[in-house]
Amino acid sequence: MDLVRDRDCSVCTACCRDLAIDDPALSKPAAELCTHCVAGQGCAIYASWPSTCREWHCGWRLLPWMAAGMRPDLSGLLVLVTVDGEAGGPSRPGLVFNVLPAATGAAAEVLARPASLDILGALVREGVPVFLGVKDASGRHGVRLPLNGPLASVAQGRDGDRMKAALLRIYMDVQGVIRGMEAGDADPSDMRPLRMRRPGMIRA
Ligand code: SF4
Ligand code: SF4
Repeated sequence: MDLVRDRDCSVCTACCRDLAIDDPALSKPAAELCTHCVAGQGCAIYASWPSTCREWHCGWRLLPWMAAGMRPDLSGLLVLVTVDGEAGGPSRPGLVFNVLPAATGAAAEVLARPASLDILGALVREGVPVFLGVKDASGRHGVRLPLNGPLASVAQGRDGDRMKAALLRIYMDVQGVIRGMEAGDADPSDMRPLRMRRPGMIRA
């Protein structure tokens, strides 16, 4: 996929903190700032970037319909392009709207904006696999929920208010499950682990 023209990461370093990286040249766990990352500036080793970092970009860098304000550090949403067939159909590209733990309130707000609801509704109607990813407070565990089924009827109805209510209900439900996991009241084995592998072997 081509990058969106005239769009750069600027001071965003969300992927350098939130994603786990398995690369022979660089390995780090999720939710830990890469040792090569300078806060507020970005990568300090551009010249010798591991291939994973060179080849990987978040959805905001790849998808022109994402608004400028949806940059991950501004919005609290890290959108990942994924191929895994988890929506019940054959493997095909899908999108994970991954809520960053540090900005859950902001992320809920961004999800509920009319522009976001329009995008999600269109993706669901077009059959693009779409997921909501929510992590626990540690940022290392979480759940990933397919949205196509739960949002199918409201997306077809093109009713923004119903879409917003359904999406926020799903978001709150997932947060409740996360809290249950943290308190030991929910069996983590019931949950789909939040794990997004790309060819470049960056995962969350
Ligand atoms: S999350 Fe996206 S915008 Fe932010 S640094 Fe990574 S690739 Fe750039
Ligand atoms: S090497 Fe650079 S681009 Fe890659 S995770 Fe670390 S700071 Fe980010």
